[in-house]
Amino acid sequence: PVVTRFAPSPTGYLHIGGARTALFNWLYARGRGGKFLLRIEDTDRARSTPEATEAILKGLQWLGLDWDGAPVSQFEGRERHAEVAREMLEKGSAYKCFSTQEEIEAFREAARAEGRSTLFLSPWRDADPATYPDAPHVIRLRAPREGQTVVHDAVQGDVTFGNDQLDDMVLLRSDGTPTYMHAVVVDDHDMGVTHIIRGDDHLTNAARQIQIYQAMGWEVPVFGHIPLIHGTDGKKLSKRHGAVGLHEYAAMGYPAAAMRNYLARLGWSHGDDELFDDAQARAWFDLAGIGKAPARLDFKKLEHVSGWHIARMPPAELMHELDAYLAETGAPALNDQQKHWMEPILPVLQAKAKTLPALLEQGHFALITRPVTVEEKAAAALDPVSRGILAELTAALQHASWARDDLEAAAKTIGESHGLGLGKIAAPLRAALAGRSSTPSVFDMMLSLGREETLARLQDQAG
Ligand code: GLU
Repeated sequence: PVVTRFAPSPTGYLHIGGARTALFNWLYARGRGGKFLLRIEDTDRARSTPEATEAILKGLQWLGLDWDGAPVSQFEGRERHAEVAREMLEKGSAYKCFSTQEEIEAFREAARAEGRSTLFLSPWRDADPATYPDAPHVIRLRAPREGQTVVHDAVQGDVTFGNDQLDDMVLLRSDGTPTYMHAVVVDDHDMGVTHIIRGDDHLTNAARQIQIYQAMGWEVPVFGHIPLIHGTDGKKLSKRHGAVGLHEYAAMGYPAAAMRNYLARLGWSHGDDELFDDAQARAWFDLAGIGKAPARLDFKKLEHVSGWHIARMPPAELMHELDAYLAETGAPALNDQQKHWMEPILPVLQAKAKTLPALLEQGHFALITRPVTVEEKAAAALDPVSRGILAELTAALQHASWARDDLEAAAKTIGESHGLGLGKIAAPLRAALAGRSSTPSVFDMMLSLGREETLARLQDQAG
């Protein structure tokens, strides 16, 4: 069975690259009936914070990526990491190294002076354990000196590292804490991880990690190192590109479903398919579809993907997305009245809006209460003649059936009696109902608001 994992270091918020890595692992597992695990790599005590862990979990939840079991804390596993290092010591695949920092520096200094490789060769590698002093030491891997270590990468192909380029890495520090490299391998093995999909900045680490797997006689998982995301200018993504945090996208009002679709396409492709839902993504996602070239952020594409998802979203999900968006921006949630007025017109709004704030903007009339504040631009439409028409319409609609055709017919009749077409009387209606000049169709608004509220708003502006 497939087991994937996402292993963020809790040193900041969930950035867009991390979110994409998590998504790829999630899709790979979910599409194969596998498990998707979460491991918080909190061994760096100085840089790890509980706030960052919280922010990362929140980001994953927002994106809709559910993980199996409880998140694993890497720091909590330090005893186990030490135990494995001691096991390697016993088997002879690791050794105690008593070289001090000064001695290592001196070694490098001399190597530099003689033009040799500065890779540290510990004099303790071949020492007889009987001669070990009772002194502080680290535990180093007895790495192969000859030959090559090959990463059979599902994305990059075979990547070969000469073993003479890889030193005997430290597994356990002199204070008994595991190094990152060692902890990752022990954890991935213990968690039964079968596939490691992560950024290609970890490719060299993979070679070192493979040496640990081999020393322990453990099965090496499948690696897939994905190219990092680049900014719109093709350069490595950094803060100056803006929007590097997933929460920034939430705050811009892109629904999670759209982000999943968009992020899936950042570096992975399935033929010409650009727009797809979760079920399709799960069914299609594979490592073969991941490209070797870095993907670029493209906000135009994101808008397009977002519009497609908003248009086809079931009402309940859309309402949930709106709530999440408002919460993200610190705005109050929609109340029952607002939801009640919003619901009937949702399909109309959904068809046009590319983002959630754009949808709320068009749905403004449903979010306000009387007395409606009329914007200056819209107020111009409320001249005396128009106000008279609003009065007549208010009277005419008192007992009209509240059906679109009848509303339209009533407005048309009254307009015509003043020699005005529907287009002309729409402006004062927009002003009265929404206080704005750009709104959805006036009849859609009337249907949403219902008779009582519509007539009250018209009456407020009638002359
Ligand atoms: N903690 C590492 C990071 O955040 C990921 C390590 C891994 O996926 O193996 O970059």
